[in-house]
Amino acid sequence: MLDRAVHIVGAASGRGARISGCEAGPEALRRSVLSTRLWRAGLNPVWDSIFYAASETDDTEAVRGLCSSVGQRVRSIAARGAFPLVLGGDHSCAIGTWSGIASAIRPRGRLGLIWVDAHMDAHTPATSPSAALHGMPLACLLGHGEPSLVALMESGPLAAEDVCLVGVRSFEPDEAELLSRLGVRVFSGDEVDRRGLAEVMAEAREIVTRNTAAFGITIDLDVIDPAEAPGVGTPVPWGIESGALAHALAAVSSDSRLVAAEIAEYNPHADKDSHTSHVAIELAAALLGAATMRDDRSGVAELEWRYGAHNYDPLPVTLVRGEGVYLWDEHGRRLLDMMSAYSAVSHGHCHPRLTRVLAEQAVTLNVTSRAYRNDRLPLLFERLCEITGQEAVLPANTGLEAVEAAIKAARKWGAKVKGVDPDAVEIISCDGNFHGRSIAILAMSSEEQYRDGFGPYPPGFSRIPFGEADALERAITARTVAFIVEPIQGEGGIIVPPAGYLARCAEICRRHDVLLICDEVQTGLGRTGRMLACEHEDVRPDGLILGKALGGGLLPVSAFLARRDVMDVFRPGDHGSTFAGNALAASVALEALDVLLEERLPERAAELGDYFLRQLRALRSPLVREVRGKGLLLGMELERETVSARLVCEKLLERGVLTKDTHHTVIRFAPPLIVTRAQIDDAVTVLRDALLALGGELRSAA
Ligand code: PMP
Repeated sequence: MLDRAVHIVGAASGRGARISGCEAGPEALRRSVLSTRLWRAGLNPVWDSIFYAASETDDTEAVRGLCSSVGQRVRSIAARGAFPLVLGGDHSCAIGTWSGIASAIRPRGRLGLIWVDAHMDAHTPATSPSAALHGMPLACLLGHGEPSLVALMESGPLAAEDVCLVGVRSFEPDEAELLSRLGVRVFSGDEVDRRGLAEVMAEAREIVTRNTAAFGITIDLDVIDPAEAPGVGTPVPWGIESGALAHALAAVSSDSRLVAAEIAEYNPHADKDSHTSHVAIELAAALLGAATMRDDRSGVAELEWRYGAHNYDPLPVTLVRGEGVYLWDEHGRRLLDMMSAYSAVSHGHCHPRLTRVLAEQAVTLNVTSRAYRNDRLPLLFERLCEITGQEAVLPANTGLEAVEAAIKAARKWGAKVKGVDPDAVEIISCDGNFHGRSIAILAMSSEEQYRDGFGPYPPGFSRIPFGEADALERAITARTVAFIVEPIQGEGGIIVPPAGYLARCAEICRRHDVLLICDEVQTGLGRTGRMLACEHEDVRPDGLILGKALGGGLLPVSAFLARRDVMDVFRPGDHGSTFAGNALAASVALEALDVLLEERLPERAAELGDYFLRQLRALRSPLVREVRGKGLLLGMELERETVSARLVCEKLLERGVLTKDTHHTVIRFAPPLIVTRAQIDDAVTVLRDALLALGGELRSAA
């Protein structure tokens, strides 16, 4: 952690860029949770000032004036021994920041600089195709380009051997030629991918500290993959993952020779859901040595990082064993599981009846495909129909496969039975839904991040607001074949619709001959206090999707269930899956259903869920906006401007409770249904403690 005072300087430059937006970056960050985030980590940041560009001058003069002011300011901050953190603005502000820091350092020696960027920023007016100054600051700092900007380097240009570029993936030959002629070490994005950011950053630090008295780091946010951080000045496809960058920065930030840092090109206008500001904040925290818990990326964490796709951002814990409501990490620490693998482990970890059946079946008969019958699957079909009141079952493996089967059934039923033109059939879903992540399912999603880059999507889907039955009535047309809905939206943030919603939807669907398909992958099998969440409103849907807990927390087992006439649209050969319905999965699922019934897990969920909800509501923290849910599917929504749900989850993990944020602001509580009152009390105690720590700090900060 930095032991010096941090002074934040905004450099609201927008005149260096052709596209506007970045000039609003510093003010947006000033109003974000940045200072609170740093304050909570033990730093005491001071918002020093924000400098704006003059409007009545030309671009070069505007940039020069702004850079001159920023330079003088950071120079005086650094000269006092404090740490300037400059927030841009387009990256032309770097001329100001680093001319000022270089002057402050000069009496002691030279300044080194790590420049983290997708671009080279090494154009001169003679080579730049756009003439945009934000493409030139590095050249200026090295003494090349527009003389009035170069002249800001009062202490002389930076020495090329003291400068490194990291993460470059977009540049013009002239820039590369200049940097190579000068001898600047450029670590391209490809090199970063190949060697890993940690290794590259370590070498960069070695270079910039070799002959210097101190060094700085400047980050253009466009170095991050725009899929993660779209709110930048000039997005470039692909790029670095922010977690990896924060991790690498955290390592470098412990070096006492680091004297200043800069984060540029934040464009709030392109930052719809605050993802990019979150990234900027976490990078700032990392630069100041206040990164939140991260894996040390040694051992298996390193292997996962190096060889795995980075499509998850796991909390920093490696689990090695589970039993009941507890999990153990690699250091032998016991953790209370309040997440149960997104509700898949309702029976608790390693339920002895389920592991016994699994082991026995595993040495008897497993996968034979459905080219033949096995002796277990028909029993599962029968039990599922008894429990759900449905008439036929189509087995699948994961939740999304069962959703896909439901979509296919609904479409074919619409075309063949209802008589809708097969090219025009339409399925209605809800805003904020989560039904999985296949291409067809994403066609129903309203979540931009899930969809971005994966299109085009198939037609035939429309969406209505969740929880408004009238909207369904209005949206149904002669082409509508089905309405697919979660009785409670899980991944969408544990959203409980108004009482009577599902019953009204069922009535509307019946009247219009539209199939009501309930996705109970998450809410089903006892989770909300009834065997099915639809039962809360006495609704029997025309189609039902189950998954997660059906596999007893051991295997992926899912199913699409429906009325016989709906299911009968499938003829042999129409649909199938090699693994679906295998004997091992069927045995475990059958036992999982028996355990649910015999251990009365839905009833437990109802009773303990009520208790848990009351306890959570009693916490009354200023950080908490709302607690909601049904049974043991509960969500605590935080006040957006105070603290991120991820941070609370990290604090809970530190204190031995596992849970997971959803949508940045909601913490879910969905423990195994075998949880006891005492274990709920333990979780609430830990939560109170964590909220007090965070909330207390916030109160006294105000
Ligand atoms: N539907 C719902 C309601 C879900 O919550 C999920 C998973 N969270 C799915 C479908 C997709 O299930 P899976 O991840 O097994 O494909």
